[in-house]
Amino acid sequence: MGVVVVGNGPGGLELAKNLSGEFDVTIVERESLPGYSKPMLSHYIAGFIPEEKLFPYPLDWYENRGIKLLLGTEARLIDRSRKVLVTDRGEVPYDALVIATGARAREPSVPGGEYILTLRTLSDAKRIRARLEDEGEITVLGGGFIALELAGNLAKAGYTVKLIHRGRTLLRLDEELSEIIRARLENAGVEFHLETSVLGADETGLRTDKGYIPGRLKVCAFGIVPNRELAVRSGIHAGRGIMIDDHLRTSAKDVYAVGDCAELNGFIGGTAKAAVEQARVLSRILKGEDERYEPFRSAFFKFADLNVAIIGKTEGRGEWLDGKARVFREGEKVVGAVVFDDLREAMKLERTIKEGLPVN
Ligand SMILES: Cc1cc2nc3c(=O)[nH]c(=O)nc-3n(C[C@H](O)[C@H](O)[C@H](O)COP(=O)(O)OP(=O)(O)OC[C@H]3O[C@@H](n4cnc5c(N)ncnc54)[C@H](O)[C@@H]3O)c2cc1C
Repeated sequence: MGVVVVGNGPGGLELAKNLSGEFDVTIVERESLPGYSKPMLSHYIAGFIPEEKLFPYPLDWYENRGIKLLLGTEARLIDRSRKVLVTDRGEVPYDALVIATGARAREPSVPGGEYILTLRTLSDAKRIRARLEDEGEITVLGGGFIALELAGNLAKAGYTVKLIHRGRTLLRLDEELSEIIRARLENAGVEFHLETSVLGADETGLRTDKGYIPGRLKVCAFGIVPNRELAVRSGIHAGRGIMIDDHLRTSAKDVYAVGDCAELNGFIGGTAKAAVEQARVLSRILKGEDERYEPFRSAFFKFADLNVAIIGKTEGRGEWLDGKARVFREGEKVVGAVVFDDLREAMKLERTIKEGLPVN
């Protein structure tokens, strides 16, 4: 059976890895590079790792696994009646097609937005790194994990870093948890401007509702926009992302979607971890196993030297298990946790919560 995967991010790559050997797998990717790690981009910008360390799988890895990798090739249309993918370089027939087109960074929608960069791809990272060498300082917009990773790593590398966030808390956590993260990153050298809305940008800084904040290099790191255009153009149902069911099926026969482009009952993964998990479930489904994907939010991050795991549902008050883990309950049942610094505890809690077991 021929499986065509559009997109060579962690979702597409994991799927190809799991299907190769048993299936005839082709990846169609518009970038001209083999797969690289987006979570490591801020480490690269900070100068902690060289460019080649971003590439876990070199070109011969694909070849050895029998995966056909069509780089520099943009998928334009899924011709469902003929079961071919139309690209800018010709047609690729499929038995099953998987859309793993990911997402792009949300652009700032303020006057002067052209003075603000975004971060999603390696070329974005190279642009930021080159500017950083000239400016020696950076202003990061956003209070989510990409903003915190970038700000934390660059402060750790010795750059002057400001972080501007409209919200009162970071990562949509409660004030106590947010404050722990803020204090640790402030210690690492990040200057925080919370509850501050950006009104406009120019070459030398940002106009905000709290006054003018100077800074020539500005990077917007909040929110993603799922790449759903290929699906929409092909008559496949989409909302914010491409609509899928719990078998990762789109509205078109034999067409599936995984990763940041896919939306299941309002859930969009937004992390490499979710994309990989969806790809693993889909590979088992395509091999004939009876499986379903159940959305479960869980992600592990590193902001400067602070490890943070956010697992399951983290709304409400929560209670500390010890100084490092705070758990959240629905009734008696623990449904979520935030864990600082202790990865082993985080992995244990992740398993326990996912399986619905009691936490002691
Ligand atoms: C700076 C940064 C830091 C991050 N840190 C973390 C982290 O610490 N932990 C974590 O879990 N996640 C992190 N993420 C998020 C994570 O990288 C994404 O959730 C993940 O990459 C999504 O994988 P994906 O395969 O769905 O899509 P993507 O990685 O976006 O890959 C999609 C691919 O499809 C290609 N494509 C799109 N349209 C077409 C088309 N029409 N034809 C051909 N090819 C196409 C794109 O070029 C792209 O290569 C981070 C992201 C960024 C940007």
